[in-house]
Amino acid sequence: MMFDGDALKNYLIGEGVSKVGYARVDVDDFPNLNYAIALVLKLPKKAIGALLSDEFKKYWDIFHKELDRLTEISLKAEQLIKDNGYDAFALTMKRNECDMEKLLSKIPYKTLATSSGLGWIGRSALFVCEEYGSAVVLLGILTDMPLESGESITDSFCDDCEECQKACPVGAINPTKWNLRLDRSDIIDIEACSQYVIDQYKLGSGCSKCLSNCKLTQEYYKK
Ligand code: SF4
Ligand code: SF4
Repeated sequence: MMFDGDALKNYLIGEGVSKVGYARVDVDDFPNLNYAIALVLKLPKKAIGALLSDEFKKYWDIFHKELDRLTEISLKAEQLIKDNGYDAFALTMKRNECDMEKLLSKIPYKTLATSSGLGWIGRSALFVCEEYGSAVVLLGILTDMPLESGESITDSFCDDCEECQKACPVGAINPTKWNLRLDRSDIIDIEACSQYVIDQYKLGSGCSKCLSNCKLTQEYYKK
């Protein structure tokens, strides 16, 4: 069977990835890898349940288990692409660890996911998709294997929804909806959010109210 974008997508979906998208990229550190594979893995509903009942340890345990699963799949896919004669580099958290700031700010997973058409950035500044809201784990793979790009999403589909904004305990979420031309600071007061999350963490708690209360996360949870 010919190994092309469809075959790769089928493989990834078969491995359990929830959504797969392709995009063209131009990253200084990887000048020969001009295609990106965006991977979205839905979080199990029990993760949302844990957030709703403020069980943060339980949430992070589930999150990291799912992240490990997606990491393993991305490394297997990297090998599969290489076995088929192309180059590939899975952008795992571990590989980015030493240079997280530098590399991830150049190719954020959220950008890979929006530019391959898998979803958009919510008012919350989190990645959001129709099927699972923000209850997802994201990763990516770079490759030189030619892949047909999805249609890039450059504007928000949040419409009139303001649920995350209403749920934020410190009013960090601005009414402005995301589009690609805006800076993050236009849509969220990241200092106010970070300070609150740090304070909550010191109390043994946390905050992901924008994630758990997202209208689309809730729709997925209740389905
Ligand atoms: S994590 Fe909490 S404080 Fe930060 S934006 Fe979301 S709801 Fe607001
Ligand atoms: S709660 Fe509504 S406005 Fe906020 S990210 Fe989700 S869909 Fe968008």
